[in-house]
Amino acid sequence: MFTAHYDHLGGMGSSTYFPGANDNASGISMLLGLAKYYAAHPQPYTMAFICFAGEEAGILGSKYFTDHLLVPLNSIRFLINTDLAGTGNEGITVVNATLHAKEFELLKQVNAKGNYLVKVNSRGKAANSDHYWFTEKGVPAFFIYTMGGIKAYHDVFDISKTLPLNEYNDLFKLITGFNAELLKQ
Ligand SMILES: [Zn+2]
Repeated sequence: MFTAHYDHLGGMGSSTYFPGANDNASGISMLLGLAKYYAAHPQPYTMAFICFAGEEAGILGSKYFTDHLLVPLNSIRFLINTDLAGTGNEGITVVNATLHAKEFELLKQVNAKGNYLVKVNSRGKAANSDHYWFTEKGVPAFFIYTMGGIKAYHDVFDISKTLPLNEYNDLFKLITGFNAELLKQ
């Protein structure tokens, strides 16, 4: 299952708005790219994609989903949430890496083999995006975000023009490569 949030902060007054290019048009782009890829390359498992609303208002969309299920949570082999996918020159950080050591090892192996991201950082549990409610209900999940590059975050400077997307393809290959290995197990 792939998730990403499509809401951002909206506006302030009549002339200020927050485009949210990195947070999280980049994650939604990744999710749509993955959906396109898996539609063309059917897998032995069902691949599911969810765009959540209300993330910035307190991860509300994913909370609602996990309280009003469309699929049994125990049928989800693994969930990958993408949020802030637009940079990556300093690598990526993986939330829940310490919780799923075996899968994290696999992710690092795929990364090393493909020579994708310069660094894959491990992080523990964090209630900082839509993977959180799934984690709380026992669904194995990673939240992957990119590091380095433009630091604009939750401000008016998070715009597409200055978002490098320089590791976008490597991250895409890492996710699909990881998934291919995971499905073999
Ligand atoms: Zn976000």
